[in-house]
Amino acid sequence: CAGCEKPMGGMTINAAGKQWHPDCFVCKHCNQDLEHVAFYEKDGQPYCALDYHELFSTRCDYCGTPIEEKAIRALGKTYHEGHFFCRQCGKTFDESSAFMVYDGHPYCEKDYLEKFGHKCMGCGEYITGEFIGALGGDWHKECFVCAECGKAFTSATFFVRNNRPYCDQHQRTTATPTKNAPPVAVLEGRCANAYGHDYHPAHFQCSRCDKPLS
Ligand SMILES: [Zn+2]
Ligand SMILES: [Zn+2]
Ligand SMILES: [Zn+2]
Ligand SMILES: [Zn+2]
Ligand SMILES: [Zn+2]
Ligand SMILES: [Zn+2]
Ligand SMILES: [Zn+2]
Repeated sequence: CAGCEKPMGGMTINAAGKQWHPDCFVCKHCNQDLEHVAFYEKDGQPYCALDYHELFSTRCDYCGTPIEEKAIRALGKTYHEGHFFCRQCGKTFDESSAFMVYDGHPYCEKDYLEKFGHKCMGCGEYITGEFIGALGGDWHKECFVCAECGKAFTSATFFVRNNRPYCDQHQRTTATPTKNAPPVAVLEGRCANAYGHDYHPAHFQCSRCDKPLS
């Protein structure tokens, strides 16, 4: 007998590739008699359905309970269907949904932008593509231009007046030039595509948020 290791005799249960006395074929965890119920096997030992799921099933990263039915795999974790949702508004996602990620949690695009998005210092709209970090904020590439002539800067250097960028020519010729306006370096960022959406890949290029994006 695979349970008590004593010789077999009389009634024999063949299960999990071994022979058992009827009294010995019980759940390894709770000793429930498994002769007439569905059982699960793990490492050659039988378990009742409840204990098997409790002990060995994949757990939902949101609620922490075992997943017996369809699991959603995302972000390197598993979730119950319906437990993979925007942490702000509760909208549920499946594996084919587009969603944004912050701190390991999923968000719909709208809430992601409202909570963590970067607004362009030039036009005030959210930035989802290429951006430039300068003057304490982020800018659309096309919005980061000389405030006087609207031309893009040819080098990584520009001049600042009232927290607006100016080209070399216009920081000199404007009516009220600032004395000793310092040249300021530009940090350029490119957004990576992940999970069907764009986000900032490198936190050091982000001048606003204090948490790395995962
Ligand atoms: Zn036995
Ligand atoms: Zn059991
Ligand atoms: Zn769950
Ligand atoms: Zn949402
Ligand atoms: Zn803009
Ligand atoms: Zn200019
Ligand atoms: Zn950022």
